[in-house]
Amino acid sequence: MSQEELRDLVNRTKKQLEHLKALGVEGIQVSTATAPSIAVPPPPTAPGPVASGPVTSLFGDLAPAPVKLTKSSETFEQIHAEIGDCTRCPLHLERTHVVHTEGNRKARLMFVGEAPGADEDAQARPFVGRAGQLLTKIIEAIGMKREEVLIGNVNRCRPPGNRAPMPDEASTCKPFLLREIAVVQPEVIVVLGNTAMKNLLDTREGITRLRGNFQDYKGIKVMPTFHPAYLLRDPSKKRETWEDLKKVRDYLDSHRSSDR
Ligand code: SF4
Repeated sequence: MSQEELRDLVNRTKKQLEHLKALGVEGIQVSTATAPSIAVPPPPTAPGPVASGPVTSLFGDLAPAPVKLTKSSETFEQIHAEIGDCTRCPLHLERTHVVHTEGNRKARLMFVGEAPGADEDAQARPFVGRAGQLLTKIIEAIGMKREEVLIGNVNRCRPPGNRAPMPDEASTCKPFLLREIAVVQPEVIVVLGNTAMKNLLDTREGITRLRGNFQDYKGIKVMPTFHPAYLLRDPSKKRETWEDLKKVRDYLDSHRSSDR
């Protein structure tokens, strides 16, 4: 079947399904045969035996299935060794150090920023400057210690002049962070600031719209909130950040797991 024919078949199938929905049909039996077929349920006057095959929502098939993160057996050491003296994106040109994710590798909570700053670049550790000190206070304010959580950035090299990483720089580096997330599988990720949120979640929405509301990354709760560096510039935003973090703390308190 050519691509044109396939596209036509999909369009006609969609129209047929929409027509069935308009008639009040709520589900269809999905055939397991190789040849495509659409089984319409029998009319109510002639109920047949309950179908043993999988029955799905009529329109469920048209929506993307929820993707769950698969647990990875990699180690951080393997991932960091693969990153090596990375030159995969232009940010390598002016960095001093590659700044890897650090912290508890069984963490329930992870914080993700956009990229290292000057202090982080010099010390090869994430969130160690003034913004990092404020992040430590934020972590302690929800009753945790910095050593309990995982802290990283979408990009591991400092952008020149602390500019925001470009989308292609973020998409080049992000897979390493996603592999670390698959290793640890934190229950909640707090994503700090507009750039990190957009790059992590691949969204065009802004932080002021999404902050304070849990988002999803493959089954992991993601809470967008303001970056600590922004809070240093505008302390009036601390109150909203505190509200966001209280939601995170409440979620973790109500989903306490025994295996961490
Ligand atoms: S930011 Fe990431 S992809 Fe770019 S050079 Fe650094 S480690 Fe490599």
